[in-house]
Amino acid sequence: MEGMKDFEELLQESVRVHGHLCAGQVLGVRMSMLGLSAIGISDPRGKDRKSLIVYVEIDRCATDAIQSVTGCTLGKRTLKFMDYGKMAATFVNLKSGEAVRVLAREESRQSARRYFPETEDRYEAQLRAYRIMPESELFETSRVAVNIRPEEMPGRPIGRVKCAACGEYVQDRREVGKNGRLLCRPCANGGYYASRDGNDPGSSFFSPSVMQFKHNDFGIRSKLWIELEGEPFFGRGKMMLLAAVGRYGSINRAAREVGISYRKAWSYIKAMEKRLGIRLVECRAGGKGGGGAELTPEIRDFLGRYDAIEKDIRKAADERFRELFGPQREAGLHEEKR
Ligand SMILES: [Zn+2]
Ligand SMILES: [Zn+2]
Repeated sequence: MEGMKDFEELLQESVRVHGHLCAGQVLGVRMSMLGLSAIGISDPRGKDRKSLIVYVEIDRCATDAIQSVTGCTLGKRTLKFMDYGKMAATFVNLKSGEAVRVLAREESRQSARRYFPETEDRYEAQLRAYRIMPESELFETSRVAVNIRPEEMPGRPIGRVKCAACGEYVQDRREVGKNGRLLCRPCANGGYYASRDGNDPGSSFFSPSVMQFKHNDFGIRSKLWIELEGEPFFGRGKMMLLAAVGRYGSINRAAREVGISYRKAWSYIKAMEKRLGIRLVECRAGGKGGGGAELTPEIRDFLGRYDAIEKDIRKAADERFRELFGPQREAGLHEEKR
């Protein structure tokens, strides 16, 4: 490969980045050299640096080697992490559109032993064999088509959307539409984190569900509503609507945020006022269809109390759930040495 350093040099560099020499470094360097040459890229960190995107399918040692050889990084958006748990990577040439997926063959783990049968340590044999085994024995390559959407590309962010639940901003079209609202992924589908103090990120008024604790796909939810004369009359939906009115000073905008029509929002508010016997909203005059709306002190007080009891229940459910179903550390830590 002209313009590209040789294997030993690349390996030394990746060992420096990664912190130790391991079979994964050898594999990752060779994988990258193969992938790059297959898509006609000879100088990934120099003249070709804007023509390359790499998808890695595992977060293991070899990934650091791929990053070191190709110069692709998450921050530059040229390295894409697909959490498949497979020892594979796809190298894409943006100029020519060529893409090649390189997969480490499962058999290569066993065949490494044949190269160094006298080596006791299986891992040591792999480390040495991966340096000299022919590419065809180590890897399986295939030409693939990769559709990279504009929001995946390096360059300026595309779009900034405020999550209707937590109020945090979401870039690059990662928002999700759910029941007519735009949400961030954790609010829509559950995230990797849950707050421990009963306070959700952003306003607890806006958390989409009452779920607090989640481990893998295992979680607990609880639901709270208030009844009047045996009829449910206030719960999370109305809470969110009123909180949005409070935030925006507009019924129209609040209705849009919770994904219902203005008429429906208005009729909910009127019905609640009737049943509670208090005014919820003061309207200020404005232009056509405009005008402001403000929550009355009475309903602010009501919302504050509702929020407090909801937090308490959530916290109690969360703590008890963690006690009874909490995460158990996976027994037998499997050590993947590639
Ligand atoms: Zn390693
Ligand atoms: Zn959110």
